[in-house]
Amino acid sequence: MARIVQKYGGTSVGDVERIKKVAERIKASRDEGNELVVVVSARAGVTNELIARAKALSPNPSDRELDQLLVIGEQETIALTAIALQGVSVDAVSYTGAQAGIFTDKVHTKAKIKTINAKAIEKDLTAGRVVIVAGFQGINEEGQATTLGRGGSDLTAIALAAALKADKCEIYTDVDGVYTADPRVVKTAKKLEEISYDEMLELASSGSKVMQSRSVEFAKKYGVVFEVRSSFNHNPGTIVKEEVEYMERVVVRGVAVDKDQAKVVVSNILDKPGSAARVFRALSDANVVVDMIVQNVGRQGVANLTFTVPRTDTQKAQRALQPILAEVGGGTVTIEETIAKLSVVGVGMKTHSGVAAQLFQSLADAGINIEMISTSEIKISVVLEQTRVDEAARLAHAAFNLDQA
Ligand code: ASP
Ligand code: MG
Repeated sequence: MARIVQKYGGTSVGDVERIKKVAERIKASRDEGNELVVVVSARAGVTNELIARAKALSPNPSDRELDQLLVIGEQETIALTAIALQGVSVDAVSYTGAQAGIFTDKVHTKAKIKTINAKAIEKDLTAGRVVIVAGFQGINEEGQATTLGRGGSDLTAIALAAALKADKCEIYTDVDGVYTADPRVVKTAKKLEEISYDEMLELASSGSKVMQSRSVEFAKKYGVVFEVRSSFNHNPGTIVKEEVEYMERVVVRGVAVDKDQAKVVVSNILDKPGSAARVFRALSDANVVVDMIVQNVGRQGVANLTFTVPRTDTQKAQRALQPILAEVGGGTVTIEETIAKLSVVGVGMKTHSGVAAQLFQSLADAGINIEMISTSEIKISVVLEQTRVDEAARLAHAAFNLDQA
């Protein structure tokens, strides 16, 4: 017997038939004698639909009312899942975030979990009930409903696994696990048996999104080991856990592609203290998130500053920079939208040399030009022409032997 927290995402509970299938899975695990706490998301698309309705009524709905609205998506699926379980003679009870004792701070639409009072859940588990908990929501100290940011059901599951000291945490989704690359782009991509928290986070921030990053950070902080697996088959998934020594034997764990970035060049800014600060202050005031940054060596007192921003924010960046250009030397802003970012990630980079050389060589051999480079301890990212990034991903995947099982 084990205590297990399971989480089913929006596609897994997308309609009545699928909820029935989920109930069968839960029942099978319950019949093995396990204690089960099950977190569910809203049906796929429901949260987006609710937001769209709110925006059709007012362009800037208040965050409090948005939270009031969004919590109903998960409230539907918890009740339906509990009802489905009762329909197959499994004793089950559903809880909203508030009823489950998930207390958050006051920041509507992106609240942080402060504490979990799991007394009620513990009592139900002892009584042999399966407990179904609404993902993505909690309650603040003033009794107001809050939500945890998009994709926040993952966080609910990880936080409950920590609070309940669960033996296992299983994140059920519509993919089989974490892959060495996007299988739609790289046909030879392989499912990973395991991956470290840091690698998972770097892959997510590089464009391969399997889970909400905040929940992976939370899991890392509290040492929650979890498995990402499919609810549509019984294949083993990918275990996400703390880095262990043997993980470093593999230099590159995965390759990620991000096609949602754009490149911004601010040319001819004054090469003096304060110029970069002014540029990035303007961007941060406009809430534009900057990713890679390169400044070339200044010549004759001027330099170029190149960086990437989400493609959806290029207009915002343009508008934020225009008024401050005069202050930094009167240069120009150019935006290039036809770029993409390729990243290779692996904890083995910490102890292996020549990783960058190998990546650059494989791109050079194919005549692919690198426009920008940035690195972290376990990641190398390059900006390339968008039309060639899929090919580049396949080349990198092969160069680091990820094609082999
Ligand atoms: N329903 C919420 C969303 O779509 C939370 C989740 O799915 O995890 O963001
Ligand atoms: Mg979701």
